[in-house]
Amino acid sequence: VRTPLVAGNWKMNFDHLEATYFLQKLVWLLRDAKFDYGRCEVALFPAFTALRSIEVLVEADNLHIRYGAQTVSVTSQGAFTGDVSADMLAQLGCSYVIVGHSERRKYHPEDDANIVDQVRAVLAAGMQPILCVGESYEERRQGIELEFAVGQVKDVTRDLSQEDVSKLIVAYEPVWAIGTGMVATPQVAQEASKAIRSYVADTFGTEAAQAMRILYGGSVTSKNAKELIGQQDVDGFLVGGAALEVDEFSKIARLT
Ligand code: 13P
Repeated sequence: VRTPLVAGNWKMNFDHLEATYFLQKLVWLLRDAKFDYGRCEVALFPAFTALRSIEVLVEADNLHIRYGAQTVSVTSQGAFTGDVSADMLAQLGCSYVIVGHSERRKYHPEDDANIVDQVRAVLAAGMQPILCVGESYEERRQGIELEFAVGQVKDVTRDLSQEDVSKLIVAYEPVWAIGTGMVATPQVAQEASKAIRSYVADTFGTEAAQAMRILYGGSVTSKNAKELIGQQDVDGFLVGGAALEVDEFSKIARLT
């Protein structure tokens, strides 16, 4: 049995004051709803600048909210202006790091080799990577969406050990669904998640595949979350826009 995970990717939104305000309100709403954190994990992904504030609040109030970063450097230290290392993130109490988000792949030189190194860096620092994959509209039009998404998982996991893969979380985020309001149908989300899990089962064994959480991302709201989470291979969500509204985000967590 996999514990579902609802992850809020704030992207480049919220300064540290807005982030702490959101967190306080989220916890208050979930407490009010008697939310069971053992049933479903909730995690927030703020900008680097807000991580320390989130950590302080989580520690001070002993909150059951996890958090992480949106990307990480592949190197551990040195002359890499502007980068943040995995150890620095682990030191701030991060549980997870999002790796290979389509926006990172698009706006930064994050190719498969770089993404593999990020995954390794995150694992070496004792955190769990959330690897983002997913086809663009063009691949779906050509009917090669499953090969494409599975191919991305394959390219990144190729040289990883079974133990490493069992710690991986995959987020299936079709690019055409991100920020567009065009959510994937539950069938589409299930089909892709199932294809990814089958690939992992064939390559790394059923145990690793059954343990692996596969999230869906792309225009998730409280309106579509229930039906999506009803799919066998969908283990939670990576939420963008709807994670910027605390009522909406808490509702998604409650539905998951
Ligand atoms: P939206 O929920 O805004 O479509 O964004 C999804 C996403 O990119 C999460 O990482």
